[in-house]
Order: sequence, then structure tokens, then C-alpha cells
Amino acid sequence: MSRPRTFGELQSVRSRERVSVKEEMRRNLLRKLQARETLFPGILGYDDSVIPQVTNAVLSRHNMILLGLRGQAKSRLLRALTSLLDPEIPVVAGCEINDDPFQPLCRRCHDLLKERGDETPVCWLTPSERYVEKLATPDVTIADIIGDVDPIRAARGGFDLASELTMHYGLLPRAHRGIFALNELPDLAGRIQVGLFNILQEGDVQIKGYPVRLPIDVCMVFTANPEDYTARGKIITPLKDRIGSEIRTHYPTALEQGVAITAQEAWTERTPDLVVPRWVREVVEGIAFAARRDKKIDRRSGVSQRLPISSLENAVSNAERRALLAGETPIVPRISDIYASLPSLTGKFELEYEGELLGAENVARELIREAVGEVFSSYLGQSSFREVVRFFEEGGSLRIREGSPSQEVLAQLSRVSDVLSQLAPLGISPRDPAPLLAAAGEFVLEGLWAQKKIGRSDDRGFIAQERHGEVELDLERLERLRKLKKQVN
Ligand SMILES: [Zn+2]
Repeated sequence: MSRPRTFGELQSVRSRERVSVKEEMRRNLLRKLQARETLFPGILGYDDSVIPQVTNAVLSRHNMILLGLRGQAKSRLLRALTSLLDPEIPVVAGCEINDDPFQPLCRRCHDLLKERGDETPVCWLTPSERYVEKLATPDVTIADIIGDVDPIRAARGGFDLASELTMHYGLLPRAHRGIFALNELPDLAGRIQVGLFNILQEGDVQIKGYPVRLPIDVCMVFTANPEDYTARGKIITPLKDRIGSEIRTHYPTALEQGVAITAQEAWTERTPDLVVPRWVREVVEGIAFAARRDKKIDRRSGVSQRLPISSLENAVSNAERRALLAGETPIVPRISDIYASLPSLTGKFELEYEGELLGAENVARELIREAVGEVFSSYLGQSSFREVVRFFEEGGSLRIREGSPSQEVLAQLSRVSDVLSQLAPLGISPRDPAPLLAAAGEFVLEGLWAQKKIGRSDDRGFIAQERHGEVELDLERLERLRKLKKQVN
């Protein structure tokens, strides 16, 4: 049976019973919980923390705010709330505020229903059409959010300015019967916050200059940076009081979670010839983990999940380019491709003073090296690469450029015994295709370099580790001082 297209047809299939948006979301959520359905598919890493709290907020019919740093999927999670709305709801066709045909709020629909009665046209809204989103900025006005007189409309329609028909509805009335999401709430000017508070308090909207009140029905959801939100004077207290649930989001807590999120979000499914080794994914993710704990990086602004996502995309592109020039498949990104993804890293964090001194590129290189070192020890920490280290100490050197074709890399690597024979912990066998072997071998050298067991020049020549590194000099000095102290005693 096709859906009702007029108010008359609608009345024969639906009762005029009214359910609020929050009640509708609650009902659908209860049904999903009962059916053990996955809530919010695609939102990873929040199963034991954020999602239960969001669930409770919906069950409590609360307005809510998500507090978290950038790139913690806050907006995405809010958008996912639309999965709790009915598949479709009837509205008076052409209404700007999605009026319920049984209980219209606006003057236009009142007049229309009086005039056309059962013939009034009805159309249907999907969940995504019931989601209104706005980024708060200091220049957002009451007119943007709530509404205003529209003199042009008045002139065109020949209406009196005081007529309700000249109203321009703001975003909030347009979210009537849906979800209104406001991102970065603290950036909203104080008087607009007062306006929002009034709506939450009274449950209706009063548009400047009109004697009408619109008892709109919305679920209001917000996001904010936690520090901005708790800073004194940023949010008016009565508004805070009215937001039923405050939920903290977070970055992935385990590397595997981060790898899964990045795998889902990064655009790597671009060619069937691509093979992204597990260690490459882990190093890319490790960069974000290292950045989030690095003192040279501003913690208040955070390090978005977009860092590993765009870094992986860029590393894959660099590998794609090399493979094309060398005419080889499969396409396998190497650690040097991650270094080549620097342009996708440097803009993703804010530096503290110490970091500023070093410069964003150097900080990013250090982060990559740190991540390589960690992933290397998790896979190959048990392996001995004594022969490799000896090769360099005896004056050997290898030159593995980022653009070198795999056969060239393998030819270099074969000069050292021990590298290609110890790749089993990486899941690599000698029979694997050359690009994969080359990537694995290069990872070993990069790993040994990250652990300061061998040296590396700027143009990727691997050499022996400098014997008089800063650290070692310090140790020697310490030893001398110790001896000196003994003698004095
Ligand atoms: Zn209407």
C-alpha cells in the first residue's frame, strides 16, 4: 500500500496520538536493546564507555552534551542518534517547520487545513531530514537560531509586518519534531545561550516581534571542548543545569581500536592491488598515540583521529606513486612512505613552546621514529639482529631511497645476512612478493635505527650508529663523576 498523500488518507491509517521526539527515540532504543541490536554501528571504541551513557541519556529523555577534544567522533555520534528516529513521519507538505498535520503550529498550515481540510497534502520525512546541525560561532544571531521578521517576504506577499506569515524561521523551529545539534556550544554568545535556556525552560519559542509562541518539540544535543565548557563564564549556569546529561568522549584507549577506526575511515580501498602491512597501520596509529602523550604538543586542543587517517591515506598515495613509476604490484606502503606523509601530519597538532623551537616537521619526524621503535619491539623485540648491526659497524652501508623499486631494495638488503631471514614474526615468508619483502626489510632497518642500534643519514643511507652519541657521552661523564666521588670518599 502506498503512503497517504492527503490528510484525509492519513486519518484513516494513523491516530492523532502524539509522541514527543524524545519519547519516540526512547521507544526505538528500547526495541533495539530488546532485540540485542548493535547500537550506533560504525562508532568504534565507545562500547563500554560513551555508548552506555548516551543510551541512558536517551532512556532518560535528556538533552545532552558530548564533551571531548577534536576528532573524537562527537558530531558523528550525534548524527547517529537519527538511527533512533522512526523511518518516516507525516508532515504538512511545504511546511517550513515540519508541522504535524494533526497539530499544526504555524499560521500557514492552520489556514491550509481550514481551507483544504482532508485534501491538505501530506508528505513524509526521513530521519536524516529531521536532523538540523549548526556550528556555534560568536557571530551566530538570535535570528539564525530562532527566527526574525522577514521584510522581503512581507513585501512580496503583501502582508502586514505583524502577520505571522512574514516570519522567517530560524534553525531551531526548523528542527521541530527532530534533533537539533549545536556544535561547540561555548562559542555561542551569552545572549543566545539565554535564548536557548528559555526554550529548554519553557518548551516553546517566541519569535521577536510576534505575539505567537511555538511549542516546538526537539531533542537538543550539543558538543564542546571540555576545557571551554568548564571555564568560568563560558556557559551560563542555568543553561548547564538544563542539559540533562554530560558525557565525556575520548580517544581510542588501545592501539588496535585506533587501527580499526583508521581502517574504517581512511580511503585505502582505491585499488585491489594494495596491501597495507599490519605494522604500517600500527606505526601510523602509534604516531597519534605518541603525539597525544608528547609534552611538546598542546594537550588542550588534542590530536584528532584525523591525523592517522590522513597520514595513512598519504602514505598509501606515496606507495601508489612509486609502484606506478616502477611498474610493480602489489602496492605496499613502507615506513619511508609514512615519513613522506609529513604534510598530512604537521597541521594536525598545536605545538607548545618547546615544540615551536623544534618546528612541526621535526616534531612529526620524532613521533614517527618513536612509533616505529615501539611497533618494531612489539614484533621483533625478541629477534637478534647482531649480524646486521655488525655489518654496519664493520663499515658497511646500505642506501634505500624512498623511491627505490622493490628489486633494488632487495638487492641492497641481500648484502646483509639476517635481515630477510628473520621476517616470520611479521607474517612474511621468503616467497612473498618483492614489494612486501622490501617493505618488511626496510621496516627492520628503520626499527633498528629507531632503537639507535644503527645510524641513518638524511638521504636514507643506513650506516653504523655514531659511537659518541649524546646519551653515551652523558653516561661516560656520569661514570667519571662516580669514580671521582669514590676517590673523595
Ligand atoms: Zn506549518
